[in-house]
Amino acid sequence: MYFKASLTALSHAMEDQVLAGSEQPLVIASFQRERFYRQEAQRYRRIAQKSNQVYVLAAPETDFKHRSQDYETIAFDADDPLTKEWHLIVLGKSYASCLICQEKSPNRNQGMTTDMDNNRRFEGIWTFDRQVAQQAANILLKTIVDYRPELAEKAQQARDRYIPSDFLQDGDPQTQEVDNTTWDVTNNNPDPFVQRLVTYLQAGQYKLIKANRSLSAKEHKERLINSVTTAIRLSLDPDEILQVAVQKLGEGLGVCRCLVYRCKETDTTATIEHEFLNQGIPSIKGQTWPLQENPLFQEVVELRDALTIDNATNDPRLSNGKGNPSAQSLQTLVHSCSILSWMLVPIFYSGRLLGMLELHHCGPKPISWKEEDVALVNAIATQIGVALIQAEAYANLQDLNEQLEALDRTRSNLVAITGHELRTPLSTIQVCLESLATEPDMSPELRQVMLNTALQDAERMRKLVQDFLTLSQLESGRVEWNIEALDLHECVELSLSNVRARHKETPLPNIENLVMEELPLVKADGEWLVEVLAKLLDNACKFTSEEGKITIEVSCHSPHHLEVTVADTGRGIEPKRLETVFDRFYQEEGALRRSTGGTGLGLAICRQIVSGWGGHIWAESQGKDHGSQFHFTIPIYVDQMSSESAYPTITRSPQGRQRARGKRQK
Ligand code: ADP
Repeated sequence: MYFKASLTALSHAMEDQVLAGSEQPLVIASFQRERFYRQEAQRYRRIAQKSNQVYVLAAPETDFKHRSQDYETIAFDADDPLTKEWHLIVLGKSYASCLICQEKSPNRNQGMTTDMDNNRRFEGIWTFDRQVAQQAANILLKTIVDYRPELAEKAQQARDRYIPSDFLQDGDPQTQEVDNTTWDVTNNNPDPFVQRLVTYLQAGQYKLIKANRSLSAKEHKERLINSVTTAIRLSLDPDEILQVAVQKLGEGLGVCRCLVYRCKETDTTATIEHEFLNQGIPSIKGQTWPLQENPLFQEVVELRDALTIDNATNDPRLSNGKGNPSAQSLQTLVHSCSILSWMLVPIFYSGRLLGMLELHHCGPKPISWKEEDVALVNAIATQIGVALIQAEAYANLQDLNEQLEALDRTRSNLVAITGHELRTPLSTIQVCLESLATEPDMSPELRQVMLNTALQDAERMRKLVQDFLTLSQLESGRVEWNIEALDLHECVELSLSNVRARHKETPLPNIENLVMEELPLVKADGEWLVEVLAKLLDNACKFTSEEGKITIEVSCHSPHHLEVTVADTGRGIEPKRLETVFDRFYQEEGALRRSTGGTGLGLAICRQIVSGWGGHIWAESQGKDHGSQFHFTIPIYVDQMSSESAYPTITRSPQGRQRARGKRQK
């Protein structure tokens, strides 16, 4: 059994024997099809220069036909059994060899690749036995004459010359004597034959080594992709995912430095937070990498594909630094990070850029990146993209869960508050109204007391419902912010007059407004700003005795915002409660034992409002009976035209807005 590749080697070796020798042998080659012959046509023209007894047989496919030119061509029928056979007979005076084979499954060769073609199998013999070669030659000469009777004479000449007559007459090859010497390697020159076979063996071996190498490289890469994928899939934390990815990729590819950073197409810079370093390579963790001013990043974004630089020292994008600031800054980067060979691979997910993977080789010599390296890093970038999106989805889910839990807490709180806060005043109102209705003899004074109590409790209920609606509105993001430049002093005055109007009946502690008039304008929604100030002042009044003191002041610690402080000398807050007071429905004495009025929603509303303009709110206190200070920040209004903070040259009127708001609420 022979593979086609071996038969080709043997045939070529036999043909080379003819080409290298000085004999004029009989050569009969039967190719299965014209296409196989075509690959060898040139050789046969050369063989024909050695001998005039050369016959080539094949089944025609395009223009192969009976012809007598350099040698004889015989086009046999498409259904001739020869289409399944491979023969080569070489009969010289001093040597003879023949190859007689039949293909095992001849129809499989259609549409095959070269590799598969070489695997075609044949059964048959290859021998130096002169008698076998003579017999085969005789049979094929008969076929040749059948197809081309005009060659009968030439075929006869071949028989006369190469096949002994007694062999032909009695058909017993054992009895003939003429030229019956077998091929003798010592007398004849076997070199071309042997060399050809050795070359073929070497070539085969080389191909095998190459195939093995590429197989093991492929396997190594697949293993690397698998290990990175498995490792990053184990986590839903983006930082962990990125660190594991650079570590595995850097180790797997043996690069000097591998880094990954998250970025969007529009980002100006990115901070390097995840890197893998090989021994002796300087770290660039924490550095800020330019993106908009980085022609390489821009090229990757535009190409939406990986970019490789084999030698950064002579890359035109990096060497044309003169007069081009971005190329110059890139050059500095290359130099400071000792980058010699560079690969940038974008991390995309559904067309959205999520980050960039970079591989650096720092010398001493540059390396040339291979296509398969790029393909591998690309495959890993895809995996990182998927893992990041999964982590993002998980984080969103967690957020949602937290929101749901918070909503659930609010709902439970609401149930509790409805139970206690609404039912208590409701029962009072009911009792008062029932008494008024059923006891006509009640004194007018008592009647008035009953009515006042019912009215007070109705007001308490109204406030609770209103605060609850306000908070829901703010939390759901359904508020339309009307941001404008505001005079803080004016807003404080307005909120103070609101508070004073509300507490007309009760004595208030001393309130001092220390807010200067010449402050820069602030940027906020006037209605909501007054609401925050009023709520903080209300609380200060509620929790401070009339002997105490309340102050409002403004400080400026940053060019971007002002800090407002409402401080009182009242009952103070325990340090561990400083954050809890901002929780919804938090009241130190609990909803049931509330003596001061209020809903427990005021500070939660304030936090939502302050966050709305991008500020912070927090409480400070030295503890029980040591007073409290509530601080919040508010952005300074910057005049777009002059890029400077604006001062109150225009008189804003939060009062007007406040009136409008009052009307709306009614
Ligand atoms: P309330 O309507 O109960 O005032 P808030 O949300 O405004 O609701 O306040 C929540 C809780 O924070 C109050 O019940 C009180 O216990 C505490 N608190 C708020 N402001 C002060 C303050 N100035 N001094 C002491 N405690 C305060």
